[in-house]
Amino acid sequence: MKKIYLDYNATTPVHPEVLDAMLPYFKDFYGNPSSVHSFGQETRKAVEDAREKIAKFLGAENPSEIVFTSCGTESNNFAIKGTAFANKDKNCRIITSTIEHHSVIEPCEYLSKKFGVDVTYLPVDKYGIVNPDDVKKSITEKTVLISIMYANNEVGTIQPIEEIAKIAKEKSITFHTDAVQVVGKIPFNVKKTGIDLLSLSGHKFYAPKGSGVLYVRKGTKLHPLFHGGSHEKNRRAGTENVPYIVGLAKALEIAHRDMDKESKRILALRQKLEKGILEKIKYTQINGHPEKRIYNTSNISFNYIEGEGILMSLDLEGFAASTGSACTSGTLEPSHVLSAMGVPPEKAQGSVRFSLGHYTTEKDIDKLLEILPKIVERLRSMSPLWEDRIKSIKNAK
Ligand code: PLP
Repeated sequence: MKKIYLDYNATTPVHPEVLDAMLPYFKDFYGNPSSVHSFGQETRKAVEDAREKIAKFLGAENPSEIVFTSCGTESNNFAIKGTAFANKDKNCRIITSTIEHHSVIEPCEYLSKKFGVDVTYLPVDKYGIVNPDDVKKSITEKTVLISIMYANNEVGTIQPIEEIAKIAKEKSITFHTDAVQVVGKIPFNVKKTGIDLLSLSGHKFYAPKGSGVLYVRKGTKLHPLFHGGSHEKNRRAGTENVPYIVGLAKALEIAHRDMDKESKRILALRQKLEKGILEKIKYTQINGHPEKRIYNTSNISFNYIEGEGILMSLDLEGFAASTGSACTSGTLEPSHVLSAMGVPPEKAQGSVRFSLGHYTTEKDIDKLLEILPKIVERLRSMSPLWEDRIKSIKNAK
């Protein structure tokens, strides 16, 4: 049975060209980049070349604004705790949203419980969009950080980042965005957009798991989280992970090289998937914004059944998809993102996220559209909610 992967927002396979670029740095070039000898100089050059390349693709003014981290979670923790610690004498406040990834929400909760930091969680509309006016209204003279994600991992909705960045800039407040689901998918420019801190994660765009970056605009106040060395200009102690850094830069280069072609191809496949599902399966809805949405992401509610049941049945047929984010699927709580968007719990429970990527083909979508209606029909035939629905239709006649 051919296995079909439709969970690219959870992670991606390493691109073969990325692996080729990384391999020499495991075996042939292994010096510590902090060493002064030639072994160290070789790997230092590789790290600095990668930094330069990444700065260029993000639109950073200077390569020194790129700080290498181990993942998106670390970058988010660094941005949030680092800003709060750098402003600790201010009795500070943070503004974020209710639909952020847990790696933003939990550091905020931690700061609030441990250090009494005041955190405002802004609501979203039914599409998952934060209203910039709400951001403006929530600002006080104690606000030191606004952290709003670029695009949501569960539903794909893209936020009005430029508007929010402008509001932050007018008030001289640091603006952070979790761009983990955007980098490598859509072009943007940190400088023009007015972003001060930006998190990205390599494994979401065909670099290995365990590679990440925090972009830190020059002059942004940030306290380090790791101590024990002067690496990354005293911002993140620890010997640099040279092969992964090389891989991340290569993956970003490939993503930008192929972005135009890939985005059009994947969008066409997603449109086919959504049209097919809505036509073939009754009582289904798409969650997320119709247009302001990353082109690879489709979150669909299948009424009267559980998303987990659909996933298990799909898995038996060789398909991988997801409910909510990979980190929280496995819990029976409805997604905090769908709840914040006002999706009723029974519809949120029946939602599945399909996220398409580089290896998704039209045949994969055709196969899904052949199998999924049968799965939904079978699960509904066993569902008490569906039975109630049929009875109420009969009674109404
Ligand atoms: N932020 C978002 C929006 C994500 O989707 C993820 C991962 O799913 C993360 C942060 C965490 O990234 P990492 O897995 O690299 O820690």
